[in-house]
Amino acid sequence: MSRLLDATARTLDAGGRLTREEGVALFAEEDLLGLGALADRVKQRRWQHRGHFVLNRQINPSNLCVLSCRFCDFASKRGRSDAYEMTMEEILAKCDGVREVHIVGGLHPSWSFDYFCEMLAAIKRRHPQIQIKAFTAVEIDYFSKKARLTIEQVLLRLQAVGLVALPGGGAEVFSERVRKQLFPFKMGAPRWLEIHRIAHRLGIPSNSTLLYGHMETHEERVDHMLKLRELQDETHGFLSFIPLAYQPGKTKVVTRQASAIEDLKTIAIARLLLDNFPHIKAYWVTMGEETASVALRFGADDIDGTIGEERIMHAAEADSPLAMGRERLIQLIREAGCVPVERDALYHEVQVYDSDVEQVAEPVPA
Ligand code: SF4
Repeated sequence: MSRLLDATARTLDAGGRLTREEGVALFAEEDLLGLGALADRVKQRRWQHRGHFVLNRQINPSNLCVLSCRFCDFASKRGRSDAYEMTMEEILAKCDGVREVHIVGGLHPSWSFDYFCEMLAAIKRRHPQIQIKAFTAVEIDYFSKKARLTIEQVLLRLQAVGLVALPGGGAEVFSERVRKQLFPFKMGAPRWLEIHRIAHRLGIPSNSTLLYGHMETHEERVDHMLKLRELQDETHGFLSFIPLAYQPGKTKVVTRQASAIEDLKTIAIARLLLDNFPHIKAYWVTMGEETASVALRFGADDIDGTIGEERIMHAAEADSPLAMGRERLIQLIREAGCVPVERDALYHEVQVYDSDVEQVAEPVPA
């Protein structure tokens, strides 16, 4: 083990916390497998060999958006051939047979906040058992401005019609330097964090993301994680951290996607830095299913879900499948040497796919 990994292990074993400098240094660590093994050990202390997944469906009701962020391949404008709007019936039809729906989209130029509330209410009327995770902080902020409501009022209305959690999108990377260049009209870190703080105060847990592999530096990745860690210390409302590998698409921001090595390092370092986050997710849609499977031994304990039909990353030419069956997810988790555990949107365990559950539940010594 390298001196850096050895020092990191000793800090963590003593219950200490990694600093910004240590986090940045880990990105330069050459012993990739050693880094992965250390993150796997930290993961196993919490989750043993569990690999979580969920039967979910991603719904992106429309790609119409009032903004045109430079890095985004998803958004469109009325009249363009790729613009679309789903009908309420199309949205409802996508909710069959899943446990969770994940709803995010563009900042729609004309749909009202009432319409989005009715969308959630209609889903719950048709599928009362479904858990709805919906709307990024950017969408929540947009609703509040359009409807002239406070963030609290928006969240409480959504909660009343079935919202149980917020997704983590819209954060991108908490760097003013990057924001000015890639998404100057979208909210920055303070507003994103404030909206999640309010959600947590109202009892709405949320998730968090980091978009990496474009023009951000390793320092900016670490700073992003540390801002999340700070808010989590205060609220304990985050369920998961999800590094999202940027899909280059047609934007020309970068010519190729981050390597699998960068993916695995980012997952591992997230697990080591975010000591107060329960879950680190390897999102197979952006990472690819094989790398996501390996990431389950690099600190991740979750691989997301069946998804159904993801449009945002696939608009940017993600070459992962549009959907994944339950059996394939189970296979990917098992191939990583982990035990598939089906969960719900709030990470309650639904089913363990292993005959020897007791052995799985046994804590693994550090
Ligand atoms: S990133 Fe979001 S806000 Fe920006 S253009 Fe795309 S959909 Fe709209």
